[in-house]
Formats: sequence, C-alpha cells, structure tokens
Amino acid sequence: MTISINSCFDGGNIDCIACDNPNNIRLKIKPDAGHEFFQWFYFRMTAKAGQSYTLRIENASDSSYPKGWDNYRIVTSCNQQDWFRLPAEYDNGSLSFTVNPVSDVVWFAYFTPYPMQRHHQLIAKTAAVANVAVRSLGTTLDGRSLDLLRIGNPDARLKIWSIARQHPGETMAQWWMEGYLAGLTDSNNAVARELLKSAVFYVVPNMNPDGSVRGYLRTNAAGCNLNREWDSPSMEKSPEVYLVRQKMHETGVDFNLDVHGDEALPYNFIAGTEGINSWTPQRLALQNKFKNNLQRLNPDFQTEIGYPVTPAGAANYGICSNYIAERFTCPAMTLEMPFKDTVDTPDVRFGWSARRSVLLGRSCVDAIYSVVDFL
Ligand SMILES: [Zn+2]
Repeated sequence: MTISINSCFDGGNIDCIACDNPNNIRLKIKPDAGHEFFQWFYFRMTAKAGQSYTLRIENASDSSYPKGWDNYRIVTSCNQQDWFRLPAEYDNGSLSFTVNPVSDVVWFAYFTPYPMQRHHQLIAKTAAVANVAVRSLGTTLDGRSLDLLRIGNPDARLKIWSIARQHPGETMAQWWMEGYLAGLTDSNNAVARELLKSAVFYVVPNMNPDGSVRGYLRTNAAGCNLNREWDSPSMEKSPEVYLVRQKMHETGVDFNLDVHGDEALPYNFIAGTEGINSWTPQRLALQNKFKNNLQRLNPDFQTEIGYPVTPAGAANYGICSNYIAERFTCPAMTLEMPFKDTVDTPDVRFGWSARRSVLLGRSCVDAIYSVVDFL
C-alpha cells in the first residue's frame, strides 16, 4: 500500500517532499502569507495500519520559534475526537517522530485543531441562550464573518471584553473560549448570574477565521500579524482589528482578556501592560490580584514565569492589551497557554490539551468575579 500525505482541508498545513520510504517521510511546513512566520502544521497520513513510519519535518529549525521544538510532543488522532501526544525528537534542524498507527488513516497536528465548523456550532449553541445576542461585525479579506457574542444587558455598568485567536495557529485559545462561554451562559452558575447583574460580556471567539482555515500560525490573509495592528488597523490590511476596535470604542471597555498560546514556554501565564504611559501602582495591584486569584482557582496557572516585563513608557501600542489598557484606562491582559505541557502539573498522555484549555477558560469566569468589585 502506498503512503499518502494530505493537508488540503480546513486548517491543514504541510508540504510533502517525499513519502516513498516509510522510514523517512520528508515534510515541510508552509509559511503564512508574507512568508514571515510558520510553525503550525496539521495533516493526514494514509498508510497501512500496524506498521512503523518515521516522519520528519525538515524545516523545523527555520520556523518562527525553534525553541518551541525542545521537549515538544506531537498531537495525533485516529478518529479526530481523541487527540493524544506522541514523542518527537528535535535534532539537526528536523523534528522527527515514529508512529505505528492502529488505523489506515491518522492525523497529526501542532495542537488539537479547532475547525471552523466547530466555531459555527459554538456560535449557534451560545446564540440559543436567552440573554445572548450574536452580531457579525463585518467580513474578513476572504469574506468570512467576524462574529461577536454579547452576553447580558448592554446597559450594564461594566463592559467586559475577551478575544481569542488573533494568532490562528494558537487553537488552545478557542478551546479556552468554550469553557469561558459555557461558564458565562450556564443559568445554574451563580457566579455568572451575579456577574451579569453588573456586567455585559463581549466575546470574539475567533479573531482570525481566514488564518484559521488557511492553516497559518500568526497572520491573516494579507500576511498581517493582527496583534501588532491595534494602534493603526485598516480595512485593507487588518479588517479584523479595525472592526473589533471600532466596536470597543462604541461600547467602552472596562476589562479585556486577549487569549493566546506560546510556542516555547511550558507554562500558563499572563503578560501585563506595565510599559504603558498611564501605568500606576494601583493598576499593578489589580493586575496582580487577578493573576493570584486565578492561580488559586486553577493550579495549571502560575505567576512565577512569563515574558520579561516591559520597562515604563516602552509599550508597543500595536499590541492589543497595551492599546486597550492605555486607551480605556482599564485592566487588559494577554493570557498565554503552552503548546507543550505545564512543567508544574504535567499530563503524560495529553500534555497541555484542549480539555485543560476549556477548564482554564471556565476558571477565568471565576477569576473575573473575584475582581469585579474593583473594576
Ligand atoms: Zn499569540
């Protein structure tokens, strides 16, 4: 039986250089538009089950974050439902792994994929809840709807925003959204009921649907890194940011969470906005309160390791959190989840996973509740 490699589907990304030798299936990750970034991969292998195959991603060391391959394990599935980890080796610039599949068809990905069909199901399921409104803010360069969910009364005192997947390859961010939205829309959840007395939630579960379908790591269809566009977005290059920012100016923002994944660091952490011009000790105290409370609520989150803190006055306002924190004088944070696993709370079979991302999203509802009186 011949071996076949295919990535021609929603979110797919791989180039097959050669697959005639089962001991050396040669692959390359395709770059995003603009050719600046690549790291996300997602493809299917069709080959006789019960035999051993070795696959090699030959351009791993040229990817956007080569440190992401140290101690990284592949995510794989034979049924597209159960995704688990497979050991991989990063050596001589290549990422290689050996598989002995139980089925003739097997999928491999950088992280558990989050297909557009599931996005539509998430929108539909949330829309069915009584106090939820769905709005299409406009269309992307490929013509997809940019979807906004509003939960609660738009006249509420606090406007709480959250957005995910500006970087489309960071699929854990949309899995996080499932837990966050489930927590907010569960009528039996006393925390959500209490929150919704004083707050309305605006949620963009997927900021970059074009990049998601195209199988990109970091950009939209025009090759734009959306999380560098917030100070000057345009409908020509970055309509996703332009449209969401416009809506934020209309509603106001009292709190924002921007949800991401980090390729290299095996931790859940928050990057704050210490570099903005209007930063104060009071704002730092509130940011720390949120982080410390989230850590107590979910041990998968930690506060020790993260990005270096930006010096005072050196903020890049192209970054969502900095732009919002300065423009709206409110807490705005970037939540990062790992592609690998958490060092302090590892899971041998699944690593950091879709399910754990969902549960962290749920914990964030509780963490917002814990600071809502200070907003
Ligand atoms: Zn990101």
